[in-house]
Amino acid sequence: MRPYYTDPYTVEFDATVRQSLKWNGATAVLLDNSYFYPTSGGQEHDTGKIGNSTVVDVVEDDENVLHIVSEDPDSSTVHCKIDWDRRFRNMQQHTGQHILSAAFENLLDIQTVSSRLGESIGTIDLSRAPTEKELSEAVAAANKVVEENRPVNIHFADKSDISRFRLRKPPKVEGTVRIVEVKDFDFSPCGGTHCTHTSEVGVILTGTIEKVKGALTRIEFTCGRRATDYYYGLLNSSIEISRLVSAPVADIPSAVIKLSEQLHEKEKQLKVLLRKLADAVYHKIVPVVDQTSEKLPVINMDDDVTDAEELRFVASTASRELKKSFLFYRTEGENCQMVVNLVVDEKKAADIVDHLRKSFGVKGGGRNGFYSLILNSFELPGVIENIKGALSND
Ligand SMILES: [Zn+2]
Repeated sequence: MRPYYTDPYTVEFDATVRQSLKWNGATAVLLDNSYFYPTSGGQEHDTGKIGNSTVVDVVEDDENVLHIVSEDPDSSTVHCKIDWDRRFRNMQQHTGQHILSAAFENLLDIQTVSSRLGESIGTIDLSRAPTEKELSEAVAAANKVVEENRPVNIHFADKSDISRFRLRKPPKVEGTVRIVEVKDFDFSPCGGTHCTHTSEVGVILTGTIEKVKGALTRIEFTCGRRATDYYYGLLNSSIEISRLVSAPVADIPSAVIKLSEQLHEKEKQLKVLLRKLADAVYHKIVPVVDQTSEKLPVINMDDDVTDAEELRFVASTASRELKKSFLFYRTEGENCQMVVNLVVDEKKAADIVDHLRKSFGVKGGGRNGFYSLILNSFELPGVIENIKGALSND
């Protein structure tokens, strides 16, 4: 029987290294006795020290507990030390999960279908979504059980006497079953490490809720020290947001609503301005494009537009009105943004642009003869000549 089944508080002990072996490429040791918890039943493994070597993982292999270590211990008799903070956080989280799941079951007849304890936040999957009121009732009931400092008892039972216990869920193991009892509240088969009294769990909090499949609903939860970290994580985010939106934490929602309304208004104004810009540029350019006999009028828009988006906007307006090929571009240092409208069959247009990509390192895309492209400014003359050449073959 594993010592941590009945004693989860011993975190320093002496042992003898029984065997050192390779496990999935890592160094692993077997001890003659060990309080280290291996990852199982949704609970994370312990970490710590075996002599001079660091325990990075603990796994179950058949009946053995394998300690994955940074290096072989330098002696066969070793002093071992488990990282208590990590162990205790797992105990709080695990015991808290039993209490929270039992609260949903006892109060609301909502079953916990599965659970994950995780390394920071845990989740339980419930058979249906609780209402907001039900959720707060279950959380309050769970925290009341914590405050009452009820004992958490461990029982062992085999097939013949397991019916003595009103188990919340059936056991997953054969043979002797370990049962964790939260006094007058819950009996669950479980092999994990738990607190011996509920007050050690600390506060139980829930986080986000999401639908998983059908009625199945996943709820985040966190307990004790992890809950404290969770709270301060949220608080720090809130303070940062409050600084960004220049409002006290309590006023963040109304400040965000106001900002979103302002943004929406600005977007509307921008659309109007862009339309005006396109109109002005369009009226300036149309006669030039329209009257030329060139197959590909090329227009430098450096003085007319300020960015690639405006360039695209004007060009797309022009492409709807002018049934003619044209090329508009603007330069920004060694970068050139270019929009080309090719009034040729679609496949030919795609071939022309493909060729530009291969020969001139042109990037970007488009369709139906309308392409928005980026290139090195010094490639521009070559690109223009190339397109003109391709169009003159028409
Ligand atoms: Zn458990």
